[in-house]
Amino acid sequence: MKIPLLLISSVAIASSVQVAERAAIEYPVIALYENQDMPSGLQPAYAGLHYSLAFVPSELLEDFRGELLMPLSPGDYYIMRVAAPESLMAVSGKIPFVLLGEDAIFKTDPAGAATLSRFGWGLTRLSEPATAPRTPAPGGPPMTAQVDSNILEMISVITPQSSRLILSDLSAIWSRNSYTQGCRQAEQYVFDYLVQQDYSTSFFNFQFGGVNMRNVIGEKLGEVHPESIIIVCAHLDCISETPDSPAPGAEDNASGCAVVLETARAFSQFPCDMTVRFITFSGEEQGLIGSDQYAAYVQSQGALVAAVLNVDMVGYSGPYAQDMYIFSDHNSYSLGALGASIISDYTNLDTNTVYNYFPQYGSDHYSFAIRGYPAIFFIDAWLDYDWYPFYHTSADTVGNLNLAQQASIGRAVAAMTAFLSRPDFGPQYVAGDANGDGAVNGIDVIYLVGYLKGFVPAPEPILRADANGSCSVNGLDVVYLVSYLKGTGAPPFYGECR
Ligand SMILES: [Zn+2]
Repeated sequence: MKIPLLLISSVAIASSVQVAERAAIEYPVIALYENQDMPSGLQPAYAGLHYSLAFVPSELLEDFRGELLMPLSPGDYYIMRVAAPESLMAVSGKIPFVLLGEDAIFKTDPAGAATLSRFGWGLTRLSEPATAPRTPAPGGPPMTAQVDSNILEMISVITPQSSRLILSDLSAIWSRNSYTQGCRQAEQYVFDYLVQQDYSTSFFNFQFGGVNMRNVIGEKLGEVHPESIIIVCAHLDCISETPDSPAPGAEDNASGCAVVLETARAFSQFPCDMTVRFITFSGEEQGLIGSDQYAAYVQSQGALVAAVLNVDMVGYSGPYAQDMYIFSDHNSYSLGALGASIISDYTNLDTNTVYNYFPQYGSDHYSFAIRGYPAIFFIDAWLDYDWYPFYHTSADTVGNLNLAQQASIGRAVAAMTAFLSRPDFGPQYVAGDANGDGAVNGIDVIYLVGYLKGFVPAPEPILRADANGSCSVNGLDVVYLVSYLKGTGAPPFYGECR
């Protein structure tokens, strides 16, 4: 099948004839593959319904079967959703791009990237996913939430009034554009706030476009499983029409930050058995730079991240309903289902869950999701439907927001944080761990084969060995486990079977 979606391009797609010339190329090269042509073992940096984008490893440069997307020149690759392709004429001739359906792929430097976000949604710098399989964290998300009186009491301190304080403080800063001093001021505000709530607080420094930027991290160590980490995060930076115009960023994304900080405040005295990190990222509007750097660091440390809850644009209700969307992918399906269940148990919001096999780009959960961590994304509208009319403008002010909805999503995220980390929840089984020793390894394959041949007793509970989430234990689970252990397949699916 030919990729049917290629509409316009400001560059001729480089032909594979050029491949031979590329032996000495030192910068990353991305290729476009039709999905069925993806070489096994190559992890996509992005995958759509019909095509995938992948960094081409040097050993595959000689004879890969995809197409090069861009001229052979240094630069980073970015992806963004563009609903009005004609707007890209403004970029044409300056920044190479290719439009695949509504996804536009660009190749540029930080200065070029700074000019892109007003043409579309969700500017994301593509990052090379590491090929090493991650280790599943002990305990998957629980399957169903149930209203808990301790949690109800804990979240009751989150109100429209308390949420307004943070929204007002952050949006009163003239601009939180990542390149401005205002963003540094906001980073300090978050730092001071988390210190005041007794969190062990630190800056995570990184550089982009010649500017020093800082993620802010407040951590509470788990009492039982300190090695297992739950991340509650939002991006702190924002953007408006030009770098010289005010950028109050109330909805995008003081609203997400208010949820993170309100959750931190409510949660500060709540006992937890897993470690919880409250994080704000900078550099999001430049292509998810801060979260990409942090997720790469976490992965390099071999950290066990059990769940990432990313909140981006949650305070606007629009003319239709108080809707909340939750995005999940193949590693976070059960986490998304839990989020929807908690929202309906603890709030009166309507929830839509959106599941895609490959994660949705455009916000900071993506940086974790492409590295194999379960990561979900809360947003109050999805693009055309009920979309926020003041997105990325100087008119993105607190007056546009529905503070009752804002507080509700704050309570839901706080409840979910507690539910995932509460002491009496305790570690659950790890799916794929057929012999119950708390790890997924080759012994499980042997055990599973023994069980299927009738030599050893059934795994207890039976679904623990359901590695692919199919609701039964059979030979496919062996195949799934083997490919996971070889690093060519996704981690075992935990949670409710599908
Ligand atoms: Zn945002």
